[in-house]
Amino acid sequence: MLKVGILLGDDIGLEVVPEAVKVMKAAAEQTGLEIEWHPLPIGRKAHATHGNTVPPETAEALKGLHGWLMGPIGHSMYPRNDPTWVMPPFRKTFELYASIKPVRSYPNVKSLQKDVDIVFVRETTEGLARAGTVVAGMGEYRPNDEISIGMRVITRTGSNRVARTAFEIANTRRMKRVATVHKAPTFKLCCGMFAEECHKVAADFPDVTLEDVLVDTFAAKLAMDPQRFDVVVTTNLFGDIFTDLGAALVGGLGLAPGLCAGDTQAMAQATHGSAPDIAGKGIANPYAMTMSGKQLLEWLGHKHNEPKAAAAAARIEHAMERVIADAKHLTGDLGGSASTREMGDAIATAVAST
Ligand code: ATP
Repeated sequence: MLKVGILLGDDIGLEVVPEAVKVMKAAAEQTGLEIEWHPLPIGRKAHATHGNTVPPETAEALKGLHGWLMGPIGHSMYPRNDPTWVMPPFRKTFELYASIKPVRSYPNVKSLQKDVDIVFVRETTEGLARAGTVVAGMGEYRPNDEISIGMRVITRTGSNRVARTAFEIANTRRMKRVATVHKAPTFKLCCGMFAEECHKVAADFPDVTLEDVLVDTFAAKLAMDPQRFDVVVTTNLFGDIFTDLGAALVGGLGLAPGLCAGDTQAMAQATHGSAPDIAGKGIANPYAMTMSGKQLLEWLGHKHNEPKAAAAAARIEHAMERVIADAKHLTGDLGGSASTREMGDAIATAVAST
């Protein structure tokens, strides 16, 4: 029995996560997959009930789960310098080092680019200090008011493991190509080490082609010719930027799912934030969170040799394709007028009849 946590997050998280869970439950029912669900407090609501945005009992409970859905956290509105208002440090705590973010276009969804099908694999535990590279103090400091200094940490282990994730994914795809995005000629040690590890891993995947793309070149190529990319692996900050650009190319943040995966656990987490501007209106697109849940099922199926989970994921993917092609139950960002719940219902219904 798979144990999966439900962490709603803030703002639109309260709207999109329940839709994702509804769809996952429908898919699990169809394939006979048994899931034990664990709702856990997080974010603003957790602060109201437990005095902390990340209650210790939530962090403790996650240790016993195979994976969880994590809604967006509205951290930009949290009070500063108050240790009870924190962004959950789960990527670092649970060593969820690979953020796997597929970006794909749909023929009938308005987008800047068509025929895009890229999987970004972003390293999430190293890089600049914001990702929690340092366990005490900060990786950024200001010795005097004229100078600010930031540290970037890249390790062989960290680079190698994320590269391996990228190659494993590429090996299952039609194009079987990995682009490693860095700036090794300039940042010879940090980017250089990342690139070296990608090349080492490539030796274990003779069917996959590896291409080095300098980060500035990549920016232009991604915007103008994204169809040439298959799997893209990169360091933390570059990945942070390019996954948002990728989403923008295919129709916006509502279409950008993600999975933060480690060796033993994974967290479904959409690229978008908590979008306070549209929260509470019932208009947020549930696609990103639902497809993040689909990725979690796929990953759990593979990790735990559970074909029912993989089948449930495939059902969600097909159902989503039908709902989008049908275009009757799409939210406003996709050109429709359906509410979050109506779109979620349509996906769940399609899951049951796929
Ligand atoms: P954060 O700093 O928390 O990552 P952000 O600044 O990236 O947040 P988001 O919360 O992701 O901002 O929202 C950016 C814009 O995208 C918002 O104006 C919002 O309307 C839109 N948006 C984000 N997610 C969705 C969604 N699921 N459906 C529709 N629109 C969305």
